[in-house]
Amino acid sequence: MRRIAILGSTGSIGTQALDVAARHSDRFQVTALVAHSSGEKLFEQVRAFHPQIAALTVEPENIPEDVKNACQWMFGENVLLDVVRACEADDVLVSVVGVVGLAAVMEALACGKRVLLANKEPLVAGGELVTEAARRAGHPLLPVDSEHSAIFQCLQGAGGNRPERLILTASGGPFRTWKKEDIACATKEQALRHPNWSMGRKITIDSASMMNKALEVIEARWLFDMPAERIDVLIHPQSVIHSMVEYADGAVMAQLGTPDMRLPILYAMSWPERLPTGGKRLDFAAMNALTFEQPDLERFPGLGLAYRALEAGGTMSAILNGANEVAVDAFLHDRIRFGQIAELVEETMLSVPVTASPTLEQVFESDRAARARAQALLRAGRFAR
Ligand code: NDP
Ligand code: MG
Repeated sequence: MRRIAILGSTGSIGTQALDVAARHSDRFQVTALVAHSSGEKLFEQVRAFHPQIAALTVEPENIPEDVKNACQWMFGENVLLDVVRACEADDVLVSVVGVVGLAAVMEALACGKRVLLANKEPLVAGGELVTEAARRAGHPLLPVDSEHSAIFQCLQGAGGNRPERLILTASGGPFRTWKKEDIACATKEQALRHPNWSMGRKITIDSASMMNKALEVIEARWLFDMPAERIDVLIHPQSVIHSMVEYADGAVMAQLGTPDMRLPILYAMSWPERLPTGGKRLDFAAMNALTFEQPDLERFPGLGLAYRALEAGGTMSAILNGANEVAVDAFLHDRIRFGQIAELVEETMLSVPVTASPTLEQVFESDRAARARAQALLRAGRFAR
């Protein structure tokens, strides 16, 4: 029986993790559930999973008596850290959204807990520190992001052979075939309509701008200790191949499956064992074709920014990430046009000083500086709609 804490239990990843935990209740005991403000959803989860601790950053006005007495409750800005320290868990699934998960990841590793990582922004902002902390803790970081899970799975039979190249696949998102000028003024509704995956709002916007793939290139650089020039991105609209690994002899290993996040979530939870997810299986005979295209950096400039951030090193990736969080929020609040997301990120990267070999506190400082700069650019009206 593995005891698991879920940070971000009410979100897209969190609810799917609970779905697979319920399917395998003889294997997983959910000991902590944390969300931001979705009280009603969390109350239902507490009733169903009987955790030791439940927590919200925003304290609700009312908690039903049965739920209130069912477990220990924690509230406030610091609940992620408080729960990580207090919970009795072997594994911590970090599935909150944004760089806010970074401190929790570091704390879980420092407490000797194993980290299952869906939340990609911590690796983007503080990849070197996170991977170093995992090495010290003696636990592998178990990736949940489907591309990184695919690569992790392809590496299972590597027998000590280092891969030469990682090939991250990308669906291309809803604007894959759109002209640059149409992408520039795409609406929220259009950007939130992902062709293959149903996900939280932030990652759905990131997928439409391909900034999600930019974050994933940086994520892969740290998870698999691979230089940026050996990480390729390939558009694959069917989302059947979730990513690939190329070895010295030219052999390419790929992981395939239906687009269902429950597979990578459960693989991280049960690794190295494989358990049924209850999801659909691939039907090769019913598949028309698997197709591939080069990504177009002209139409999706966000992707190119990942390589520039890795080249610059230090806290540049934290700056990219902080600016992107501000830009996505601004787009979702109708403050900028879709095409201005990457422009705002680039402009911020050009004007915030980078710290080489940063400490954790310096990563947070660069994140704050990037957010402040991006907000100032927005206020100055340079990016008005
Ligand atoms: P969602 O927006 O659906 O869910 C986010 C979750 O985090 C919610 O439970 C939310 O609570 C909680 N949360 C947000 N901020 C805080 C906070 N400060 N403290 C505590 N809880 C918080 O996101 P997704 O599930 O889509 O994504 C989660 C992460 O996983 C992201 O980093 C994303 O990039 C990554 N990922 C997601 C994939 C997917 O298929 N969805 C695929 C691959 C990676 P509340 O409901 O109360 O707001
Ligand atoms: Mg992904």
